[in-house]
Amino acid sequence: MSIQRIGDIVLIQLSDIDSNIYVIGDTVIDSGTGFNFTKLYSLLKMLNIKLEDVKHVINTHGHFDHVGGNGYFLNASISIHEEDAPILENGDLKVSMADFFNGKLKPRHVDRKLRDEDGIRIGSMDCKVIHTPGHSPGSVCIYCPKEKILFSGDTVFSDGVGRTDVPGGDPEALNQSLEKISRLDVKKILPGHGEPVLSDGNKIIVQLAKAGVQPVD
Ligand SMILES: [Zn+2]
Ligand SMILES: [Zn+2]
Repeated sequence: MSIQRIGDIVLIQLSDIDSNIYVIGDTVIDSGTGFNFTKLYSLLKMLNIKLEDVKHVINTHGHFDHVGGNGYFLNASISIHEEDAPILENGDLKVSMADFFNGKLKPRHVDRKLRDEDGIRIGSMDCKVIHTPGHSPGSVCIYCPKEKILFSGDTVFSDGVGRTDVPGGDPEALNQSLEKISRLDVKKILPGHGEPVLSDGNKIIVQLAKAGVQPVD
C-alpha cells in the first residue's frame, strides 16, 4: 500500500491486484477492485478527501481491477468509453473478468460514454480522450497536452504493454493504438499498474510501439 504525489495528482496503490487509483481534485481515474475499500477509505481520509466529494469517476476500461470500486463513489458520475460501457451497464462478470477475480459487479449507470478526441476535464487540467483499443475494445488513454501527462490505463506501462489474451483483446488493434500514442508529446506516463514514468515518457512509448505485440494464433 502506498501513496505518491505527482504534482496535484495523488497515486494510490492498494495491492498487487488493484489498479492504480489516481485522485485529482474531485476526479478519480480508476477505482481498483473495491476489495481493499477500507484501506482506500482511510487513505482518502488522511488526504482530507471525503468519498462524497468525488464527483467524477473515469474508468480507463471495463476490467474489474479498474471498476470494482466504482460502487463506493455514490455521488460520482461514471465515464467510460462507449465500447466498454455495456460491461458496467450490464454488470458483465465475464467480460469485466469479475468472475476471474472472484468479485461482484453490480450494474451501474454510465453517465458519460467517451469517444475518441472528446475533451475531458481532470481536476484543473484540460485533457483529451484517446481511444486505444487492444487490451479491451473500449480502452482509453487520457492525454493532458499542457502538462504532457498521459493516463495510460492498461494500454502501456513503464516496462511493457497491456495483455491481449483477455476477453476483447486484439494485438493488431493494440499495435495501432501504440503507434497512435507514440505521436503524442508525453513527459509523464501514469499507467494503470506499476510505477509512473516521470520523464521522457514519449521515448518509452516509441520503444514499446516499435517492439509491438505479436498476434496470437
Ligand atoms: Zn488492469
Ligand atoms: Zn485491464
